[in-house]
Amino acid sequence: MVTASNLGFPRIGAHRELKKAVEAYWKGGMSEGELMQMSKDLRKTHWQMQKDAGIEVIPSNDFSFYDQVLDTIAMVGAVPERYNHKGGNINLETYFAMARGRQSGGVDVVAMEMTKWFDTNYHYIVPEFTKNTTFTLSSSKAVDEFKEAKEQGITTRPVVLGPLTFLTLGKLRDEEADWKTLLTGLIPVYAELLKQLEAAGAESIQIDEPCLVLDICEGTKEGFKHAYAELSKASGLKIMLATYFGDLRDNLKLACELDIDGLHVDLVRAPEQLDDVLAALPAGKALSLGVIDGRNIWRANLQEASDTVKRAVAERGADDILVGPSCSLLHSPVDLDNEPKLDDELKSWLAFAKQKLHEIKLIADAGAGNKDSAAFEENRKALEARASSDRIHNAWVKERMGSISDGMKNRKSPYETRAKVQKPILGLPLLPTTTIGSFPQTQEVRQARARFKKGELTREQYDEFLEKETTNCIRIQEEIGLDVLVHGEFERNDMVEYFGEKLSGFAFSANGWVQSYGSRCVKPPIIFGDVSRPEPMTVRWAEFAQSQTELSMKGMLTGPVTILQWSFVRNDQPESETCQQIALAIRDEVVDLEKAGIRIIQIDEAALREGLPLRKSDWQTYLNWAVDSFRIAASGVEDTTQIHTHMCYSEFNDIIEGVARMDADVISIETSRSAMELLDAFVSFKYPNEIGPGVYDIHSPRVPKQSEMEVLLEKALEVLKPEQIWVNPDCGLKTRGWAEVRPALEAMVAAAKALRERLPDDIRASA
Ligand code: GLN
Ligand code: ZN
Repeated sequence: MVTASNLGFPRIGAHRELKKAVEAYWKGGMSEGELMQMSKDLRKTHWQMQKDAGIEVIPSNDFSFYDQVLDTIAMVGAVPERYNHKGGNINLETYFAMARGRQSGGVDVVAMEMTKWFDTNYHYIVPEFTKNTTFTLSSSKAVDEFKEAKEQGITTRPVVLGPLTFLTLGKLRDEEADWKTLLTGLIPVYAELLKQLEAAGAESIQIDEPCLVLDICEGTKEGFKHAYAELSKASGLKIMLATYFGDLRDNLKLACELDIDGLHVDLVRAPEQLDDVLAALPAGKALSLGVIDGRNIWRANLQEASDTVKRAVAERGADDILVGPSCSLLHSPVDLDNEPKLDDELKSWLAFAKQKLHEIKLIADAGAGNKDSAAFEENRKALEARASSDRIHNAWVKERMGSISDGMKNRKSPYETRAKVQKPILGLPLLPTTTIGSFPQTQEVRQARARFKKGELTREQYDEFLEKETTNCIRIQEEIGLDVLVHGEFERNDMVEYFGEKLSGFAFSANGWVQSYGSRCVKPPIIFGDVSRPEPMTVRWAEFAQSQTELSMKGMLTGPVTILQWSFVRNDQPESETCQQIALAIRDEVVDLEKAGIRIIQIDEAALREGLPLRKSDWQTYLNWAVDSFRIAASGVEDTTQIHTHMCYSEFNDIIEGVARMDADVISIETSRSAMELLDAFVSFKYPNEIGPGVYDIHSPRVPKQSEMEVLLEKALEVLKPEQIWVNPDCGLKTRGWAEVRPALEAMVAAAKALRERLPDDIRASA
């Protein structure tokens, strides 16, 4: 028989129950006992749901109060010294202190670092290692949850993050620490865990090693061999090694040589690796086929998937084949049945985590020759209807896509020429000051939006409110003395959702939440069809704002790559094409803003770096189309219009050529936390256009001193020409309060003025 299996289920609950409970616990509104009980209920529901769907291999220990990497840190006792853990099992207080920091009871510790999990929008807590790091089994969570499911009558396959990926994702905090010693210390802890699970009645374990789809070094490869030789001896548990998010490529041979009982491969991201895997995996080892997309929301093609399974069965026999999702379903929303807002047609194209379980079962059964023909027929019809639906296909968009010329990807003249014509029109001083776009989204602003959505405010009343906020924001910026103003983005809920709601081809779920980090969940828009712009999206507000001031108003847009990255994207055409469609829509908006008299337009690409493929050899292809999309969006205007872009991160060294190729007249970046170090990339590359290195950190409520910002600007002036430099904060100000924003910007403007005074006379005269 082919086995229906799962690698992990979303832990948040169909109604984000876990988020609400954990946050209530943090605020003191729920006791630890209550939190434990509710999480137990949630796990029970999820296990039962999987059992009811016919899943035979059901995971446990996929639950987490915050993050599975943090759980692994707790499991192996790798608590950094600052949390003062005295040994023994790690309690909830220490666990959450590592996740969020703690500032109470005389303790003041910062949180551990957090970063993105591979190329997903999930964030994990980064393990920290020093030469003093030792490992001991310090959490009974995996064993407890196994027993909990067993009491429910379900013998689960526990999941743990593997030792090599755990180390790969971590950071060495001092030079004396070394990977080999760490791994040596880690293996006995995993061995002990395996023994305890076996004693509790487990038969197999899923060990996740997604680092096998990355470029890994020889040392890591050796580490793999050593670790799995030891772990296979440690207990009688069958080890299913799970890889996902890409193909094994040069690591396939290694994976197949390891002392493991089975290998899981991602055939959604990398269907082409199946033949190589079938050839390389020794007979007798189980092969788990990840044929259901764990990261997107589209219904699977059952026929295609079961054909894949049949191919594997023909070669290896049904008993050694498992069918599952490509990766944990953690990255899918929970339940499509919970979607009153989506229409039936669209819903018939979608599958969330719960629906994916049924798909897995149907495919496993069909792979074993037991096909549910009615279900397959219904699936075929739904996919056919989707493929030919006129809601997806827009002939006008397709025609336009066909007519994208090189000319559309280029500004009329090179930067030097544009800068010359822009200068007299804009009349800006040296070191011009500006902000990144948003101003405080106060309680009042959010309340007005909520009331408008509920129908308690009419369109007119809401617009009137927004006009008042915008005007007020402009007056304040004038009083502060900023050179280039923004309208404040009060009409926007979110920088992607706002545009998605105005573009055709997008849909929005009511409950399609996925975990982003800890208790934070996001609800990505769904891009289901050809993207077009029925009417201008931002012109009304930009025009209104410009009418309120003599100064230059900067129009504010989200770029195509960022809109793509932060959405669930259609899977029936390459992402590069969907991105180009969005780019064309943004291009039209840019041109309309120019027509409306807006002379400076910013196109935010906060997510450009996030989209980088996991393997370096794939980067260039991505950067080519991503940067081209930006250029399509930005190049419809005259030389006289100044295009800005903004990226809020600080690693540019390895993508600087791509960033330069975007050819924005001005780019604003995050620098203040890394004390201008990141400017290095721009300097060594001789970045030709203008740069606004963020001079203060908007992520903290702290008001920066004028002198601090002067020091940062001095540093920037050491390496860049004065004509190249803009003065701005790190990112948008929407999460801050006016009480901090105003003094901070006043100090920023004062810093810029002070530095202008200090510039040599000849430079000042030429400005
Ligand atoms: N213009 C956006 C803002 O200011 C940019 C946000 C971002 O880069 N994340 O809010
Ligand atoms: Zn930003």
